Amino acid sequence: MFNFVGLSLVVLLSATVEGVEYDYFKYHPMPEITSWMNQTAKDYPDVVTIVNYGKTYENRDINLLKIGLSTGAKKKGIWMDCGIHAREWIAPAFCQYFVRQILQTYKTDTKIAEMMKNVDFYVTPVLNVDGYIFSWKDNTTRLWRKNRSPGPEGCACSGTDLNRNFYANWGTIGVDLTDCCSNIYCGTKPVSEPEAEAVTKFVGGQSGDFLAFLTIHSYGQLLLMPYGHPNVIAPNNDELMEVGLAAAEAIKKVHGKEYVVGTSPNVLYPNSGSSRDWARLQGIPFAYTFELRDKGDFGFKLPEDQIQPTCEEAYSGALHIITYAHDKAIHGIESGAMTTASATLWSMLLAVGVTSATLM
Ligand SMILES: [Zn+2]
Repeated sequence: MFNFVGLSLVVLLSATVEGVEYDYFKYHPMPEITSWMNQTAKDYPDVVTIVNYGKTYENRDINLLKIGLSTGAKKKGIWMDCGIHAREWIAPAFCQYFVRQILQTYKTDTKIAEMMKNVDFYVTPVLNVDGYIFSWKDNTTRLWRKNRSPGPEGCACSGTDLNRNFYANWGTIGVDLTDCCSNIYCGTKPVSEPEAEAVTKFVGGQSGDFLAFLTIHSYGQLLLMPYGHPNVIAPNNDELMEVGLAAAEAIKKVHGKEYVVGTSPNVLYPNSGSSRDWARLQGIPFAYTFELRDKGDFGFKLPEDQIQPTCEEAYSGALHIITYAHDKAIHGIESGAMTTASATLWSMLLAVGVTSATLM
């Protein structure tokens, strides 16, 4: 009897020591996230593949997990990236949770199973790999936001704000064009940064196949929709709003948290060169930025005990958008308030300086 108990204990402990149990509700440094990606691909060989689609400035791989059931037919895509801003650690935690959820449920949840047949999920847990690693270095670098490329000649600082570097009204508003020390320095030209280029090439090469583009940030509890420029309106603005509001409702049902929905200038601040705006300009209909918890109490240093509830509620919101985009494309189900103008509005506008205390 005594021996039997001892044996059980050993078995229990060894399961943990072998690292089988990945803790989704802790923040993980990059090497652990990379191991997790490799392990996930190993655990689900029929549905998960790792795709390398670029290199960072410091020559690290930018990888995503492609998740879906292969049917032989050409499939639609759902894009999700996390960690474009280094210090927003809850974002990579969410991407990992999202992957875990769809992989754990697709065999029992018929809706997830259907979507896994019709679409492939392209999930990048950490897009700004160099910046993320730098934010883990020590206390002085914890709040690093940008990538790690050097500034132009004559400027001593490093880093470009990758979410100001995309080809979408680039350099017009909510950016710093000249001071490379600024946290919103937008680079020397559109897509000057290898990380932005990787997304532009990968998604842009097949943008007609993507139904939704979700880019995950913190903080503020917001669902931001195109466009960052106050004078440009998405052709499906009403539908984006309607779907966003329903997603916020879904979020609220989980733990009662309020998320505000709207365009960046209406609910946060105007900006240009964001990946979300670029995705919408490419024709991807449902492009949203998630600003996860909280509203400033802890900000970028969201305590680990909030990872689980934050992920649970955001999963519900993301799933609402994804399900809507899927059902509309596959079954032709859509809301009544939709406008389908295909032309994209571009305006030549004067750059307006914008300052803000906190950048998300
Ligand atoms: Zn951000």
